[in-house]
Amino acid sequence: MLKLNSKGDDVRTLQENLLRLGYKPGAVDGHFGDKTEDAVIQFQEAEGLYADGIVGPRTLALMEEALLELTLELQSPGVDSVTASPQRLPFVRVPADTYRDGYDRFFLRADVAEAYLRIRERVSEAGGKLTSSGARRLLTARVSPSRSATSFHYTGRALDLHVGSGMENPGRDPFVIASDGDRYWRVYARAPGGEKMEIDAVTYRSRQRSRKITGQFLDLTGLFETEGFARIRARKSFFSGGTWLGAEWWHFQYEKGLQPEVSTFGGELLRVYAEETLRSTPPWQYRNRVFKVNWW
Ligand SMILES: [Zn+2]
Repeated sequence: MLKLNSKGDDVRTLQENLLRLGYKPGAVDGHFGDKTEDAVIQFQEAEGLYADGIVGPRTLALMEEALLELTLELQSPGVDSVTASPQRLPFVRVPADTYRDGYDRFFLRADVAEAYLRIRERVSEAGGKLTSSGARRLLTARVSPSRSATSFHYTGRALDLHVGSGMENPGRDPFVIASDGDRYWRVYARAPGGEKMEIDAVTYRSRQRSRKITGQFLDLTGLFETEGFARIRARKSFFSGGTWLGAEWWHFQYEKGLQPEVSTFGGELLRVYAEETLRSTPPWQYRNRVFKVNWW
């Protein structure tokens, strides 16, 4: 965390980044002074954050996003040539309903964003919520056992509902999750304007046994499928005492337009990034993975 009177290289980097983003942090000297604080506050206000002048994880994450946007803008060929090469699609910012520490907006590829917005309209009309734990994964994000190097999140085709907005308290959560067999889930959105249903709800605590929940719901998995989104399976480990992060009920990925055995991970990365940007990043090593062959 960086704040007034912090010192060092991290502060210097912060100052450089604020400058690049068009703010005025004062001298780039590694000393977090009044001017740097003012610039941070202005950035936070512009991004809709609580403007306390303190640089924590949330401010840093939004700054990374803003910097990536800037890079993309500088590299993007401009409106005229976009028409000439219809391949490239921009990332678009879409709104989400806040829930706990979830996001109130996130980024998707433009066509995916349109599909998401249609779903959100249906859910909102019925009085339900669409929460978010994020969507776009930056190319430089660290790869780990729970963060695949070939994730759809890199391509702007995937989103995660807030991981804490279901499977915790099915009597109250915005989403109630039922087993759909074969390690798949069906996600129901709690919505006053939905249908009356009785759902066999699974929770993180009780993963194999369900309990009955009645109320008004929308079949959210069904809505996502209508718009071209697919769900993924829970990891096997989830049912044998593994981390709750293996549940994956929150993940939806847009598979419309992808051809099995033809479309590649690299091809999809090139729909949203220039090759120069991709070349030295971890995901680019897997560019030859093929949809439904060795890329899922
Ligand atoms: Zn995901």
